[in-house]
Amino acid sequence: MAFKPFGWLLGLFSLDIGIDLGTANTLVNVRGKGIVINEPSWVVVDKKTREPYRFGFQAKELVGRTPTTHIALRPLRDGVISEYEITQALLQYVLGQAHRQTLVPLPRPRVVVGIPSGATDVEKRAVYDASMGSGARETYLIEEPIAAALGAGLPVTEIIGSMVVDIGGGTTEVAVISSNGVVVSRSLRVAGDELDQDIITYIRNKYNLLIGERMAEQVKMTIGSAYPLPTEKTMRVRGRNLVTGLPEELEISSVEMREAVSGSVQVIVDTVKDALDEVPPEIISDLIENGVCLAGGGALLLGLKERLTDELNLRAWIAEDPLTCVARGAGVVLEDLEKYESLLVEID
Ligand code: ADP
Ligand code: MG
Repeated sequence: MAFKPFGWLLGLFSLDIGIDLGTANTLVNVRGKGIVINEPSWVVVDKKTREPYRFGFQAKELVGRTPTTHIALRPLRDGVISEYEITQALLQYVLGQAHRQTLVPLPRPRVVVGIPSGATDVEKRAVYDASMGSGARETYLIEEPIAAALGAGLPVTEIIGSMVVDIGGGTTEVAVISSNGVVVSRSLRVAGDELDQDIITYIRNKYNLLIGERMAEQVKMTIGSAYPLPTEKTMRVRGRNLVTGLPEELEISSVEMREAVSGSVQVIVDTVKDALDEVPPEIISDLIENGVCLAGGGALLLGLKERLTDELNLRAWIAEDPLTCVARGAGVVLEDLEKYESLLVEID
């Protein structure tokens, strides 16, 4: 072995970083420090030059309020990179923020990034290149539902079947995992964003009221649901009346919002059922024992756990801190890359 007098020093500074490049939120998990960045995956860019102007929280604040010269976008909207350069800029921004937070000028970190299981080769390559282009020394990709399962503490490496349903902004990912491998998986482009759109459409059709995306998300998180609630709720929404053209405020109920999102919720439920159809009986028996783990922000939709438990005939449970599962799972992989090697995605 070559003598490396400064090797230990490099080791001290070369941090390992797990990244959850989500369609809605981007998280950075620095080994030994935990999650240091958790920001919305929004970027505001100049319409003409495409030059980024604001990132993360500062960009999300501007959604629906940008001046005409600028546009707010989520480069990963559908779970894949649609705006390569902007994605790279977003990665650079979060890594820069992480460096600032950790107070160490991280020279070329090793990075594990979560990608949707339905990503194409071109998309995988784009994430890989964006990571390398933003300063990583080595980059490993892992499918998001597997990272979520690891982050949720499921026995991924054991000969026990586990099922995880990760509902994010742009995609819902379903995976059944056993012995460090995927048994069945599904990736669906119906998730949190779709529910927001359902709410906008419902309120527009029923009340002629046009509300913004951010208001719709608030409504979903406050009174959206997938199952009758013990006490139904109401909430006031504001928007523009499309008939009069004037501002208007009105009260809507959780019963209405359940109806609004019911189609999309059913699509998610059916996708999970469809995946279950392919699971071999021995693993079904494990799932009866251990249930179905729900991760991602969508797991927090009121009544979803109850709805899935009811329809699947399996106990659905919400992972601890579902929004950080993927980032924590990427951190688990960094602890022992060899052990989890078979779970990493090949890049050609
Ligand atoms: P991604 O991995 O795609 O970035 P996340 O796992 O961060 O997505 O989840 C973001 C989604 O979860 C958004 O659509 C958001 O509106 C939704 N969400 C967050 N909290 C709640 C909640 N309490 N109820 C319903 N949906 C929620
Ligand atoms: Mg996610």
